[in-house]
Amino acid sequence: MNEDDVSFFRRGLLGWAARNPRPMPWKGEKDPYKIWLSEVILQQTRVEQGMPYYEKFVKAYPDARALAGAPEDEVLKMWEGLGYYSRARNLLNAARYIADERNGVFPDKYEDIRALKGVGDYTAAAIASFAFNLPYPVVDGNVYRVLSRYFALDAATDLSSSKKMFASLAGKLLHPEQPGAFNQAIMDFGALCCTPAQPDCGNCPLKQRCLALVKGSPADYPVRLKKNAKKERFFLYLVVRRGDKILIRKRAGRDIWNGLYEFPFIETTSAGELTETDIRAIFPGEVPAGISPGEPSGFYRQTLTHREITAVFRELIVPDDIHGEYLGEGIFSGCIETDLAGLKKNFAFPAIISGFLKKII
Ligand code: SF4
Repeated sequence: MNEDDVSFFRRGLLGWAARNPRPMPWKGEKDPYKIWLSEVILQQTRVEQGMPYYEKFVKAYPDARALAGAPEDEVLKMWEGLGYYSRARNLLNAARYIADERNGVFPDKYEDIRALKGVGDYTAAAIASFAFNLPYPVVDGNVYRVLSRYFALDAATDLSSSKKMFASLAGKLLHPEQPGAFNQAIMDFGALCCTPAQPDCGNCPLKQRCLALVKGSPADYPVRLKKNAKKERFFLYLVVRRGDKILIRKRAGRDIWNGLYEFPFIETTSAGELTETDIRAIFPGEVPAGISPGEPSGFYRQTLTHREITAVFRELIVPDDIHGEYLGEGIFSGCIETDLAGLKKNFAFPAIISGFLKKII
């Protein structure tokens, strides 16, 4: 790639971006805190879905100090519906670090930004280039697609060795004086022109030198290794009701739902079945008299990165007088009771449970 190739690519992209503005609330923003918020929200989330969350967060927590002072349950509740809750926990963790250790001042060096919890190479480059005009290239799915097509690269984008090669290539192409504008341009171009399906090659400013187009095969790029099949898991949630109270518990452990609330549940071998063994897992001793599971709900499904979860919910109506016999034991350990109004207002749940709650409340 010679100087002329580099300058053709930069000119083409920046010219295209000037002719195709893509207004968004955080566009042109120079406050690193707001850029960070928008970038974290947009990880694994579509722009249209993320936009109201960005506005809600900026309003509730206008700076890192304000976010740092919020209770975790409140932040998770605000995040409800976006999924991948580790993002919200990392945001809070990093905001507290900025407030406590940096006197509320957002870092302005790439390495310090990259060191914030939950910030990877892509997000650090976006914040560094948009807020501080530092020359770090962003490499997201759009950039992989544009570069792999333009250069007809056969390297699989999900291999770590290829990632380094793509980052190095993006670094060479980055406009040294306008890194922020260039990064924004290549991402917008990937989202609007060099799209995954049916790229608009006819109106593309790079078409004269695009090698995938010359070969007649933009759809063959980017190359990916075969995806692993997702593992199926079946959860049976027990909606335990005593009068107007319902049993829930905060999820512990270090998985993606950590800190969210859930109904006590057992994992079953198929969706909705409740065998004798399952009943014994729920009530290790005698099944208390007066308790029996209600009819199963329909199926609720959620797809995670490596899992396909199918959940069924069954009500257990519990008489008042046996309350003490189960609360705090077995699968009910750590449970608290709340009423329906509190359930909806105060607690954040994984999407698969929120979907069920929307039907019953
Ligand atoms: S010519 Fe088509 S495939 Fe090549 S960069 Fe442009 S839009 Fe993408």
